[in-house]
Amino acid sequence: MHSLFLHNTLSRRKEQFEPLEPQHVRIYLCGPTVYDLAHIGNARTMVVFDVLVRLLRVLYPRVTYVRNITDVDDKINARARESGEPIEQITARTAADFHADMAALGVLPPDEEPRATRHIPEMVELIQRLIASGHAYEAQGHVLFSVPSFPAYGQLSGHAPDELLAGARIDVAPYKRDPGDFVLWKPSPPDTPGWDSPWGRGRPGWHIECSAMSWRYLGETFDIHGGGTDLIFPHHENELAQSVCAFSGSRFARLWVHSGMLQINEEKMSKSLGNFFTAREVLAKAPAEAVRLALIRTHYRSVAEFSDAAVAEAKRELDRFYRALERYPDLGAADVPPPVMAALCDDLNTPLALSAMHGLADKALAGDFDSACGLRAAGGLLGVVQQSVDEWFRGGADRAAIEAAIAERREARRRRDYKRADAIRAEWSARGVVFEDRPDGSTSWSVVAGQEGR
Ligand code: AMP
Ligand code: ZN
Repeated sequence: MHSLFLHNTLSRRKEQFEPLEPQHVRIYLCGPTVYDLAHIGNARTMVVFDVLVRLLRVLYPRVTYVRNITDVDDKINARARESGEPIEQITARTAADFHADMAALGVLPPDEEPRATRHIPEMVELIQRLIASGHAYEAQGHVLFSVPSFPAYGQLSGHAPDELLAGARIDVAPYKRDPGDFVLWKPSPPDTPGWDSPWGRGRPGWHIECSAMSWRYLGETFDIHGGGTDLIFPHHENELAQSVCAFSGSRFARLWVHSGMLQINEEKMSKSLGNFFTAREVLAKAPAEAVRLALIRTHYRSVAEFSDAAVAEAKRELDRFYRALERYPDLGAADVPPPVMAALCDDLNTPLALSAMHGLADKALAGDFDSACGLRAAGGLLGVVQQSVDEWFRGGADRAAIEAAIAERREARRRRDYKRADAIRAEWSARGVVFEDRPDGSTSWSVVAGQEGR
């Protein structure tokens, strides 16, 4: 069996992964805040962790994967105020859109997908524990976490607390004892979602949501906590502080995995900068497997640049893999070949796994059936090369119309009406269907990326 090595943000080292329970891996990923469509950067993080979970499922008999939905948040409240749409409608619609986009990208559903609004009692209990142990205090209807009460604060993000607070000194809320203290609970006015609590009607801060949901489904200490690098500070630093202080002796997550940001023109893709593409608009223009592959061709810890050209390159790479499978209509089940496993077990080295897959493709093209089966199995771990060759090259096209056009073109050529024959070819080429005349006189066809032969 392969040993899995993962880079741990907390220790800043690559570590050999060993779950707390040898046969059971418990992993938590911060999921979406549901006020708007996911952008392709959000999708990168979801796809990266989907690959990690697929790998864990090959290596371990049991994996519990929890990915939450944040459905109470000031961004959601603001969106409802702007649009007039009820909050429940915004969150339900956005969660459904998110599920549809993830399914299109081949992201498998998590084992548990808790929603924050259904776990308020757990949040209240955590906050009570923090108050009782002197790590939190109530002030003007707010409950705050006391950062100075936890000397290890800053261990995950690597900043000293005073350094973290330097920027916060301006405009510090009057109810904070220390500028770095952060909100666990805040009061809600009547027109804002709120729940009754020992501190009055209010709503949770964002960080406590993840501490409560991971505790509920994975326990006080679990194996892996994931998210994008943008969440290391303050979100994950605060989750860690809350959970470790609420449960003395616990470690919260033993290993922290953070995936790099997707960029556009060397700038982080984000809603606030406006430099984003939604996952759905990208998926409308290119095959889903090509989009997915474009998101994992770069190592997960590096920033990745997104562009149409990057998707087109991924598409060409997949064309090559599918070409390698073309002559084997009946592929048998196979294990993921060792070089691919070894690459993925080394901190999820997807670029190396892909180059190993090209090695398999070479052998398959040279006639080796086992390599073709191995290539398909390796693709299963990355969530690509899972279509039939026919679907990949000709999927979605109007086959009957294309076959009829090919027949008409053949007939035109027989009459030596080459003008007509060329016109038919040009007409279909403009629609993204390429005719290729074979030496034996027959004509094959394939579909060019993003144009479904319509
Ligand atoms: P949000 O809905 O903004 O809370 O983000 C959901 C997930 O997407 C989090 O894990 C973020 O780290 C991640 N994320 C946000 N922006 C990007 C980006 N540009 N590239 C990669 N991941 C991102
Ligand atoms: Zn979180």
